[in-house]
Amino acid sequence: MRIFLSRPDITDKEIASVVEVLRSPNLSLGPRLTEFEQALTRYLGRRRAVAVNSGTSGLFLSLLALGIGQGDEVITTPFSFVASATSIMMTGAKPVFVDIDPVSLNLRPDRIEAAITPRTRAILPVEVFGNPAGFDEICRIAERHHLPVVEDSCEALGSALNGKKAGTFGKLSAFGFYPNKQITTGEGGAILTDDEALADLCVSLRNQGRSSGDQWLLHERLGYNFRLSDINCALGLAQLARIDEIKARRSRVARWYQEMLADEVRLIVPTTPPGGDISWFVFVVRLADSVGCEHRDRLLEEMRRQKIQVSNYFPPIHLQPFIAERYGHGPGDFPACENAARRTVALPFHAHLTEDDVAFVCGVLRGILDTALR
Ligand SMILES: *Cc1c(COP(=O)(O)O)cnc(C)c1O
Repeated sequence: MRIFLSRPDITDKEIASVVEVLRSPNLSLGPRLTEFEQALTRYLGRRRAVAVNSGTSGLFLSLLALGIGQGDEVITTPFSFVASATSIMMTGAKPVFVDIDPVSLNLRPDRIEAAITPRTRAILPVEVFGNPAGFDEICRIAERHHLPVVEDSCEALGSALNGKKAGTFGKLSAFGFYPNKQITTGEGGAILTDDEALADLCVSLRNQGRSSGDQWLLHERLGYNFRLSDINCALGLAQLARIDEIKARRSRVARWYQEMLADEVRLIVPTTPPGGDISWFVFVVRLADSVGCEHRDRLLEEMRRQKIQVSNYFPPIHLQPFIAERYGHGPGDFPACENAARRTVALPFHAHLTEDDVAFVCGVLRGILDTALR
């Protein structure tokens, strides 16, 4: 590949922070864990953060802490990374999908109420591609029905809607720090909440069900190992210290794409919603509805042949074979999701891209469209 889809933004500061931990006696449950959690609470303005070993673990523990399990239903979006649904399934609960808004690609607020049943225990919305659109409305509906929101903010660190940050909408909110996210810990994640009791429960669940006391081999409840090492936390701390700079660099790349593709009527280019501030996670364009969706896969293939790494974020979750089979879903169940999923092209997107790289990608993209649509 000549241009990669994503790349972490790591400086000598991150490297020095990690090396410092390696020279210390505390590789896990040490001082960096607490510091990373405190830095997250400060950045997001929430009372508590619980660092865990992945964003998926963060969602799973959030649901477990709410007591969600067998026989329960959780409303979520079919247009997301699979973890937003599998975290529900791993608790024993059922993901109940609701179609998306065709513009924001987020859960459609006006379709949520029809999906609520006596078994509904929570709503799990996702800021897809970092876009917080609709989250105010989703929270209003949840409140009206006394349902907690578990916010999958794994793609949205640094985004905000009307000044309210992504990761502050949910009763519990989960972030992920995989290397393609805005900041990375290698692998890792965190739960953010203002509820002390839920946070304490998550702390216990991530650490083998231990109590907060100092009895290492006393296990109060069924937990597991979802801990994040101090090595990862040190990396996360150095990254979070640079979040404004990282966000700005990524915004600059997004702006280049927006400017260079502004006149391209064959594509839908992502924009920021009214009142929104997007911390760009990926840059996903879509074939316009006037263009046959059969061109998408050929376009992906041709871009890869020209050494540009691209992806098809996201195939519909309800059509993943094991999920379709378990819940009896099929094509046509969520048309807006399926239409979007057939048309997306995730372009290379990271802080190291230069204006020339973006121009090259846009040139190749236009060339393929010219040839295919002639
Ligand atoms: C990245 C991501 C997650 C969590 O991913 P991990 O790899 O487990 O950290 C969850 N949901 C969404 C929507 C994501 O993009």
